[in-house]
Amino acid sequence: MLTCDHYLMPTSLEEALMLWRGAPSGSRLVAGATDILPWAREGRAGDVHLPSLIDLSRVKELCGYTVEAGKVRLGANVVYQQFLEDETLRRHLPAMPFCAIWFADDQIRQQATLAGNIVNASPAGDGIPPVIAMNGEIEMARLDGDRIVRRTMRVAEFLRGPGKTALGPDEIVTAIICESMEGYGGSFQKVGQRRSLVISSVCAAAFVKTDPSGEIFEDVRLALGGVGPVPLRLTDIEDMLRGQRITRQLVADAAGLPADRVASRTRRDYRRAVVRGFIEAAIEDALVACGAPQPGPAQREAAHV
Ligand SMILES: Cc1cc2nc3c(=O)[nH]c(=O)nc-3n(C[C@H](O)[C@H](O)[C@H](O)COP(=O)(O)OP(=O)(O)OC[C@H]3O[C@@H](n4cnc5c(N)ncnc54)[C@H](O)[C@@H]3O)c2cc1C
Repeated sequence: MLTCDHYLMPTSLEEALMLWRGAPSGSRLVAGATDILPWAREGRAGDVHLPSLIDLSRVKELCGYTVEAGKVRLGANVVYQQFLEDETLRRHLPAMPFCAIWFADDQIRQQATLAGNIVNASPAGDGIPPVIAMNGEIEMARLDGDRIVRRTMRVAEFLRGPGKTALGPDEIVTAIICESMEGYGGSFQKVGQRRSLVISSVCAAAFVKTDPSGEIFEDVRLALGGVGPVPLRLTDIEDMLRGQRITRQLVADAAGLPADRVASRTRRDYRRAVVRGFIEAAIEDALVACGAPQPGPAQREAAHV
């Protein structure tokens, strides 16, 4: 069970930062609480008593999103359900609806934030591979005297290992900033003990853009989760595909490459087998989702021989 002396609900970023700076050691920030609550139970941390819990869900500056100059700035309170329901987010972040659909269930998706998923830094956190593939950055704020100071860094650099991040002790995450992937097809693959209400064993995200003919990979973004201490961006495979004619053989060759990068200590052979199929399926699904015309079956079949 999770108990605390003080449950605080700031409504502005300045108030949240002041409360956080003044909070006694051992206090915690909370957004959707979908990681923190299950952590404080038998078998994990057990009964936990905290001096203060600072609930960020009403901080107005952390809510909502903006799209500007090719970037999507997601306030830290944006929850997974929004990636399913919001048409603008679906268009600009086209792998996120596929990530959200297999994320927990309706109830958890209404609470669970992408920022909380990233700060939790699970090697298999579902939202992390798509964010890394979108060159995602994380914005953090702290107080310097009375002044709010912000900094941003790549999410790929923010994650330091399982449960470890570069978040400073007095900092609050304010936003996740991704490149707009409008015009790309997106996909997300996930496998766990079962398909829903499960943390992934392995997951993969892909974004693909073709040239107007649909025959050439104009751009490809790929990332894997659950294969090591932190999710992996597959930039060498992206480089191998970019500018090339789309053939099944090329996709199959590319999909064979990352298996040897599986560094997880558990179920390594299983994860290696999964990765190959996932990369292939992720690219194929992203191609199907891509707005550009698809190569004809004959062309695809010829390429497959
Ligand atoms: C039934 C169930 C199913 C789940 N299914 C999945 C799944 O399919 N895939 C998956 O990846 N995860 C899953 N999870 C885990 C969890 O839902 C996610 O990690 C979620 O995104 C966490 O977000 P949250 O807002 O609830 O975080 P919280 O629990 O509120 O916080 C998580 C961590 O982030 C910190 N934090 C939160 N917001 C901020 C901020 N703005 N600034 C600084 N620190 C902050 C907190 O202090 C805490 O350390 C599941 C959990 C449950 C209970």
